[in-house]
Amino acid sequence: MHEMAIAEGILDIAKEHAARENSSRITKIGLLIGEMAGVEEDALRFCFSTLVRGTLAQDAELSIKRVPLVGRCGACGREQPIENYNFICPKCGGGLAVVSGRELRVEYLEMD
Ligand SMILES: [Zn+2]
Repeated sequence: MHEMAIAEGILDIAKEHAARENSSRITKIGLLIGEMAGVEEDALRFCFSTLVRGTLAQDAELSIKRVPLVGRCGACGREQPIENYNFICPKCGGGLAVVSGRELRVEYLEMD
């Protein structure tokens, strides 16, 4: 499952930081996930909760922030939210290029 690989990546990052900070417990992991990153939030939470058992992140809260999909028109420069996969600029009919909404990253970590 795709979300399992993502959860493993997140846990690896958290463990690495904890080791560097000499921390024994990770309390919170802040994630930034774009609407178009292709990540199922429930599946990710589930995978993460099974993965962290017995690790220093087993009590960590997963705080997920979704980033809306926004595009910028290549012709007129207008920026606007993209809905229903409509990548056509409503103002001039030009094509919208994605400026945000594909993010998938650990934004911050809290640990003891
Ligand atoms: Zn336009």
